[in-house]
Amino acid sequence: MFERQIEIPSAEAICARIPLPASLAAVKAERDALVKDVIAGRSQKLLVVVGPCSAHEPAPVLEYVRRLGRLNERVKDKLVLVPRIYTNKPRTRGVGYKGMFSQPDPENRENILKGILTIRELHIHAIEQSGLSAADEMLYPENYAYVEDLLTYIAVGARSSENQLHRLVSSGIELPVGIKNPTGGSIPVTLNSVFAAQSPQVFMYHNYQVATQGNEYAHVVLRGRVDHYGNDIPNYHYETVMQVFDGYRKAEGELKNPAVVIDANHSNSKKQFRQQIRIVEEVLQNRLYDKSFKDIVKGFMIESFLEEGNQKHDIVFGKSITDPCLGWEDTERLILDIAEKA
Ligand code: PEP
Ligand code: MN
Repeated sequence: MFERQIEIPSAEAICARIPLPASLAAVKAERDALVKDVIAGRSQKLLVVVGPCSAHEPAPVLEYVRRLGRLNERVKDKLVLVPRIYTNKPRTRGVGYKGMFSQPDPENRENILKGILTIRELHIHAIEQSGLSAADEMLYPENYAYVEDLLTYIAVGARSSENQLHRLVSSGIELPVGIKNPTGGSIPVTLNSVFAAQSPQVFMYHNYQVATQGNEYAHVVLRGRVDHYGNDIPNYHYETVMQVFDGYRKAEGELKNPAVVIDANHSNSKKQFRQQIRIVEEVLQNRLYDKSFKDIVKGFMIESFLEEGNQKHDIVFGKSITDPCLGWEDTERLILDIAEKA
């Protein structure tokens, strides 16, 4: 039984109600090209996708992206900074807070229409106030149409990367899509998903049979894995990255643009958020020793917010209510350091 609660207007209707102004669309287009150039190896800059695990409230997220916009001015010769504005959240067990999309007020019940409107406004204000267009996770491929004109980077989460609809929709997205290794950690499975996303596809989407061209900017994100006993096992090390490198090489032309982004949190840090600094430093160090490693590692994903750590309820301004994050000062130091070593 599906009780109809609120009718949601089409993506076209919502986008017309809250349009992206042309001047900001131009900013986004420029930034899309910067990130594509990094993934395709046309630019030697490093990509840094950085920000809170979840964007649960607009005000602290906008404060965060304004700071990131100012920092971007200092590092933009070496790095491309992309704020994480993740508006859909699974909890690991699928119940509880599901992100701004479902709950624009995290302490209140679901209101998806209000959530969609709040998300569009947030992404538009973020570009306007920081000059930075953002990354979001595509948790529900059907909903991508509501934000597709606003984003510069799309993530497919560890629990979604084996899912056929995620892979098919990724094949039609004209932006870099970072496909995380599944929680089990299989590298061949991750590369199969990248292959599916890079290939032209025909499928059913929004009441149409659609055809896609394939997305050559789909790539691997290593986020660590979880073993059969629930232990987090890191996979940012030299050995795993080189396994991915070999997987791309063995695909003999079937896979374009070999690229790995290292997610420094999640099962890589065992959610010990300060470990993200060490993990990033280790990866930067490995780049000095091996050209193949250096070439394939295109950047980092870092969980960071105004205040470090996390909290159960939204009490402290700018503190994560999902995964624990680095605080702003540590983040700024780390980003300046990445820029110096990039
Ligand atoms: C995240 O990026 O916050 C996230 C939930 O990641 P994963 O899908 O790797 O668990
Ligand atoms: Mn997270």
